[in-house]
Amino acid sequence: MPTPHNFLAELVGCFATPIAENPTVAMIESAFRHHGMNARYINCEVQPAALGEAARGARAMGWRGFNCSLPHKVAIIQHLDGLGQSAATIGAVNCAVRRGDKWIGENTDGVGFMKSLATLIDARGKSIVVFGAGGAARAIAVEAALAGARHIAIVNRSVARGRELADLVDAKTLATAEFIPWNKSYRARGEDDVFVNATSIGLYPDVEGRVDADLSAARRDAIVADVIPNPPRTLFLREAEARGLRTLDGLGMLVNQGVVSIRHWFGVDVEASVMRRTLEDLFAI
Ligand code: NDP
Repeated sequence: MPTPHNFLAELVGCFATPIAENPTVAMIESAFRHHGMNARYINCEVQPAALGEAARGARAMGWRGFNCSLPHKVAIIQHLDGLGQSAATIGAVNCAVRRGDKWIGENTDGVGFMKSLATLIDARGKSIVVFGAGGAARAIAVEAALAGARHIAIVNRSVARGRELADLVDAKTLATAEFIPWNKSYRARGEDDVFVNATSIGLYPDVEGRVDADLSAARRDAIVADVIPNPPRTLFLREAEARGLRTLDGLGMLVNQGVVSIRHWFGVDVEASVMRRTLEDLFAI
């Protein structure tokens, strides 16, 4: 008897607008190919008014789950049946997961960053400085605190947004948090272990955009990280390298949030290096 073929692929994807330049599809499908998985990841241009119908469509077609990117990370919550712990604390979902007949919202941005950080340092007991207070910063600050960081400093231009995030971390986690208004250059302190640019400064085409931070007093073993995936070697990271500090680029976060999404959807751990190589080829590094 010949082996029966299976012409039915498992489906996942991403709902966002604009989405054409989102490289996650190439990265995730390279992992599917590498591991011989019969699965497809489909980028879908979804307008805000159609988000509910898109989510119902995914349900109707038996998708395993989907990522949500801008501007849907908060609005999607009303179309789901529940939230995982960090998504509930962060207040945003970037990964919807089908579990039985329920759709649960997770947030893999912060976990992805923490997995990337864990290659250099154990976050427990550490003091982490986060530049920014938007979606990426919220995910990183909350997840770092849930992973056992001792202190989170939020450095942000808009006072209301920055203070709200520091208050959230203080109220919902065991870490202490402070808000530092970013109205002058941030001067690194001896107690800071990790500095993370979680703003959009440095994202293509703003490649010479400068994170206004003076790292001259940073400890020699401090780590400087960036969320910007394109270009991966931002000015912030290049300046830190020139000071001899260890760095982590935004590709690490992007790859690891993909690894975590695939684990949520399929229960398997895929090879991060395969996905990283795909992104490096795309960005011609
Ligand atoms: P948001 O728009 O939610 O937040 C942007 C943040 O950047 C705000 O805190 C804003 O400050 C700050 N900011 C922007 N421009 C400046 C500036 N010139 N000076 C000072 N502060 C500034 O964006 P997201 O958090 O969703 O995304 C931020 C970046 O993270 C994006 O570039 C995205 O590419 C990247 N990202 C990377 C991921 C990865 O896997 N590598 C995953 C998710 C995001 P204010 O509050 O004052 O306006």
